[in-house]
Amino acid sequence: MFAKIKQIELEQFSILCILGVFGYLDKSFMYFYVFGFLLFVYVYKKYSKYKFTDNKPRYTPKIIVFFFFYYVSILLNPIIVAQSMLQAVGQLYIVIKNFAIFPNVNNHKGIEYCLPFVGTWNVAAGGIEITSSHSWFIVSQRYAYDFYILDKDMKSHKDSHKSLDNYYCYNQKIVAPADGTVIKVKNNVNDSKWIKFGLPDFFTTDFRGNFVVIKHSDNEYSMIAHFKKNSIVVKKGDIVKTGQLIGLCGNSGLSREPHIHFQIQNSPNFFFSVGLPVKFKNYKIINDREASDYIKADDIVQNLTE
Ligand SMILES: [Zn+2]
Repeated sequence: MFAKIKQIELEQFSILCILGVFGYLDKSFMYFYVFGFLLFVYVYKKYSKYKFTDNKPRYTPKIIVFFFFYYVSILLNPIIVAQSMLQAVGQLYIVIKNFAIFPNVNNHKGIEYCLPFVGTWNVAAGGIEITSSHSWFIVSQRYAYDFYILDKDMKSHKDSHKSLDNYYCYNQKIVAPADGTVIKVKNNVNDSKWIKFGLPDFFTTDFRGNFVVIKHSDNEYSMIAHFKKNSIVVKKGDIVKTGQLIGLCGNSGLSREPHIHFQIQNSPNFFFSVGLPVKFKNYKIINDREASDYIKADDIVQNLTE
């Protein structure tokens, strides 16, 4: 327990600044905005090792300040504020409901999934440990993965990074990771036009962008997000088979460059669910590393499903 607490890092408390919104009800909540300054630490750490668009370090002071104000400005988008608050409330609810005990690789024996794309992709983020996790403290996304495609030079695009079409994973086929029934689809969110700055859409109408939720069993649902606008070819109620095309990779929602977000959750509701560890099947890890049942960030993974 103590070891776990030690792994909580300072900048994670920046999330508390959201509580400052309640300052409209009671002024004392305004003090929570002070936690917003920890976003500096968060942004610094995140972007100093960031390599989504190219392999250059991103810790020049100019860029740090730019991203800080960018993230502050995104908090002015009322939909994002509402969704962030809903997520905070939802997470608090499930922490209480589950007595803070969540599924993990030892106690969860669920369905095995195929990778949700065709061919070979890179794991941009995700893993089963606190250090590799997509977002350990957002319990619904604890075992989520971000996938994109890199070339040999670790670049995610050819030529200029300013055009969506230059990104290797943009427009690539996204497929059902297991048999199931489609229960939710959102297909009308714009792809970010801010790609030339490597930024998501400030004005997005959903931080997930376009997404699909598929029910695989009573307590396992896959959620895939950031599809290209109007590319999703399935609709609510459709029965899908493993490997069936569901849409194309895009850059919608809070996405800095084309990628997909993939997670397995225990209920249909994104905001009120618990994330489940994902055991994949029919795949190969291309990079050289010790064998493991679970994939993690920096892995290169090939889908072998026919
Ligand atoms: Zn993600």
